[in-house]
Amino acid sequence: MHQPGKAPFAPYYQLINEIDNLCESLEEKHKQHMNCKKGCDLCCMAISVFPVEFYAIKGELDKQVTGDLPVPENVDDCRFLVGHSCTIYSSRPVICRTHGLPLLYRSLEDDEQFELSCCELNFTKFDLEDFNGENTYPMDRINSQLYMINKNFVADFEGGRFSEQERIPLSDLISFQAGNL
Ligand code: SF4
Ligand code: SF4
Repeated sequence: MHQPGKAPFAPYYQLINEIDNLCESLEEKHKQHMNCKKGCDLCCMAISVFPVEFYAIKGELDKQVTGDLPVPENVDDCRFLVGHSCTIYSSRPVICRTHGLPLLYRSLEDDEQFELSCCELNFTKFDLEDFNGENTYPMDRINSQLYMINKNFVADFEGGRFSEQERIPLSDLISFQAGNL
């Protein structure tokens, strides 16, 4: 469990703890399907995160972690994936914590409809009827909570340097560690 931490990151870590507990319970519910394991990395890719997440992770890392990371050949690959393992696993962003679970979210085309997203390596066979609000990860609710936490964070951060929609490439953590940002 993450420590709640000090302001302004306490709400972020409260959410992380809630997400980790939820993911643990969902993994247990779906354990007959779950094939996620160290070395399986098809879900990893270069991502951007909200400033609150970027600076919380930045605060957790030290130069040892990111100092000598190789540059991937493919620009779409995550900089923190080395030898098929995540080098910042305990500090990984929210989206990475949900990898592999059945994710439920409202359809972008029709907000009366819901859609489900699952890793095909885990849920090779399933019936949509088997999924409900109790055994799926509520993407919309968690994303809304993260959005509001970030909105409050950026309002007070460095004189409004970031807008509430702005995201930062996770790989910029390396430039930070090298003192180039
Ligand atoms: S931060 Fe870690 S878990 Fe997330 S995409 Fe990168 S390597 Fe994968
Ligand atoms: S979500 Fe899929 S690709 Fe990612 S670790 Fe799990 S099984 Fe592997």
